Amino acid sequence: MELKISVKAPAKINLSLDVLRKREDGYHEVEMVMTTVDLADRIDLVHLETDQIIVDVSEGFVPNDERNLAYQAAKILKERYNINKGVSIYITKRIPVAAGLAGGSSDAAATLRGLNELWQLNLSLDELASIGTEIGSDVAFCVYGGTALATGRGEIIERIPSPPPCWVVLAKPPIGVSTAEVYGKLKVDQITHPDTKAMVKAIEEKNFTEICSLLHNVLEDVTFKAYPEVKHIKAQMERFGADGVLMSGSGPTVFGLVLKESRLNRIYNGLRGFCSNVYAVRLISQQHLDKNRTKV
Ligand code: ATP
Repeated sequence: MELKISVKAPAKINLSLDVLRKREDGYHEVEMVMTTVDLADRIDLVHLETDQIIVDVSEGFVPNDERNLAYQAAKILKERYNINKGVSIYITKRIPVAAGLAGGSSDAAATLRGLNELWQLNLSLDELASIGTEIGSDVAFCVYGGTALATGRGEIIERIPSPPPCWVVLAKPPIGVSTAEVYGKLKVDQITHPDTKAMVKAIEEKNFTEICSLLHNVLEDVTFKAYPEVKHIKAQMERFGADGVLMSGSGPTVFGLVLKESRLNRIYNGLRGFCSNVYAVRLISQQHLDKNRTKV
C-alpha cells in the first residue's frame, strides 16, 4: 500500500459565465464554460495510522481546520467509507486565494482524487464528482478538470473538448472578492446574457478568434462597480494586446488569452508594472491532465 501521494490541484478560469435565475433554495441557476490552466496548488497526502485528519497550509491566512475544503473532502470520504486510519494533508498554495480561480474547490477535488488512490477506494470520477458537490458547487468540475459546460448551481458537468492551445495571462489585484457578496448584488433581471451555445461550438471547432469574441461574464459589472481597479486591469490587458480578456468567476482575477508567444512578454511585463500578482500560464488539455494528474 502507498503511504504518500502528491496531487496537482489546478486553477480554473471561466470562458463564459451566465446566471439564468435565482432559485428557491437560494442558489443561482448558472451556465458556465470552465477550463483548467496550469497554475496549480500541490497537495501532499500522507497516510497516518492514527484516526485523524491534519491540515497544514503554506499560506498562513488559509484555514487549517475543518473550514478548509480539503479537510472537508477527507472527512466525507473517511466517514462514508468507514476509514479508521488518518491522513495528513499538506497544501502548497500557488493559486491566489479568493481570486475567482476555484483554488479551494480544486484542493478539495485533488484531495478526493488522491485519497481515492491512497485508501484504495476505487471510486470513479463520476462518484468523486458527486461527493464533491456536497462540498461546493465548483468541486465537481475540478474533479474532472479539462474543459466543461457546468449547469445547475455549477455541479452538473458536461465535458467538452479543450480549446486550441494558447497562453493565459492572469492578473490579480491585491483584493479578495466574496463570491456570495457578488451574487447577492447581481440584478438577475437586468443581465445581458452570453451566447453559451455559440461558445461551446467555437470551442468544439477550435476557433480561437470566435472564442475570444464570445468571452462574457455577467458578474463583471457587479465586481467592476465595487472594485474599479479590476475594470482598469481588464482595459490595460486589452491595451497591451491580449486577444481576448475577461474576469474569472466573481473576480478579481482578470485573464487574457494570447495566441502568439511574441506578444506574451509585452502583456506580462506591462501588467507587472502596476499589478503584483501576474502569471503567464497555459490551458491544460484533458489528455495532458489525465497523464499528469499525480505528477507534481
Ligand atoms: P470561489 O469562487 O469558489 O469562492 P475562489 O477561487 O474565489 O473560489 P478560494 O481561493 O477557493 O476562492 O477561497 C475562498 C475562501 O475559501 C477563502 O476565503 C478561504 O478562507 C476558504 N478556503 C477553504 N479552503 C481553502 C483552500 N484549501 N484554499 C484556499 N481557500 C480555502
